Amino acid sequence: MTTISNIDLHCHTTASDGAYSPEQVVARAYSRGLNLLAITDHDAVGGVAAAQAEAKRLNALLLAGAPDAPTETYIKPNAEVQSVENGSLERTPAERLLTVVPGIEISTTWRDEQIHIAGLFIDINNAELQGLLEQQKVLREQRAAAIGEKLDRLGFSNSYQRCKEKAQAGASITRGNYARFIFEEGKAESIDAAFNQYLKRGQPAYVKTEWSSVEQAVAAIKVAGGVAVLAHPRRYKISNGRLRRLCKDFKACGGTSFEVASSQQKPMDFDYLVQLCVEFDFFASLGSDFHTDNIYRDLGQNLALPDALAPIWRCPEAGAWGLDPALKQRRVNLTYAKNEEAGAQEDA
Ligand code: AMP
Ligand code: MN
Ligand code: MN
Ligand code: MN
Repeated sequence: MTTISNIDLHCHTTASDGAYSPEQVVARAYSRGLNLLAITDHDAVGGVAAAQAEAKRLNALLLAGAPDAPTETYIKPNAEVQSVENGSLERTPAERLLTVVPGIEISTTWRDEQIHIAGLFIDINNAELQGLLEQQKVLREQRAAAIGEKLDRLGFSNSYQRCKEKAQAGASITRGNYARFIFEEGKAESIDAAFNQYLKRGQPAYVKTEWSSVEQAVAAIKVAGGVAVLAHPRRYKISNGRLRRLCKDFKACGGTSFEVASSQQKPMDFDYLVQLCVEFDFFASLGSDFHTDNIYRDLGQNLALPDALAPIWRCPEAGAWGLDPALKQRRVNLTYAKNEEAGAQEDA
């Protein structure tokens, strides 16, 4: 079964390594029935204003009943709706309005691991946050140029320039951009394979970077009025013991939220994160980490928080930003017919 949630607090645009512009991501959010979407690009906030402006424009069209107002189109003909929690499938235009939450995903180095700290409900113009992002941008540019040089030596041409041209002006260039570039050059069978063959630690185009510390990232998010979220905690290649240590360190420097639900996550990993979330008394967050077309990872996909956890919209920063703490997540539970093209949408 696949769950489509109306709340998704983690995704990427062309302001970093997402394949779609902020406007396109917002259009996709309406088509998938979202009401709350956070834009969380890597070390960049360049996509937030455009996404908010597009949501404002499309909300106005919805309320005016305009013919070109966005529609929900995510339930395909071969899908069966099993249940709708906290709402119905028939929604009024007012129930389909979208709010864009300003966010960020900051790369940090913690004990030689790359750990991602998301910030939500941030003031994107805060000077201290901007200062940290400037530093990260310098590190990213240096690393991107170094990766490009390595790839060029491996037989690619003008890798760095060509990756930059594809991203939005001023965007963060990540290994995700390079993975897509390598794939599009036909040098790897998939984006994942490009990552594994060239970009990950130990591979020929890997370049090590010392990012900001967890403490610096959390401090910058807090000073900008936001809540710090430990992103996709199960995706790091660390033991349970080290993950606990990370939770402890993150909490000690002021981190209060934990990304419990991610799109491509094994049930066992999800259960463990629920347990840690309770143990460390974190607010639970949820996010697809959508980057590009991927049947297993899309806006709102498979994001369900257990009712026992305190959801992130009850944190003080969300309240200060204007979210209603009584907000309820709406979940549409679907199954897809087998042996049809879209049948592949069944859980991995
Ligand atoms: P960076 O922050 O530059 O190290 O790049 C990290 C980004 O690379 C992640 O946010 C993903 O978008 C992407 N990435 C990480 N692992 C993989 C993978 N196995 N396949 C494809 N992309 C990946
Ligand atoms: Mn990425
Ligand atoms: Mn990440
Ligand atoms: Mn991400």
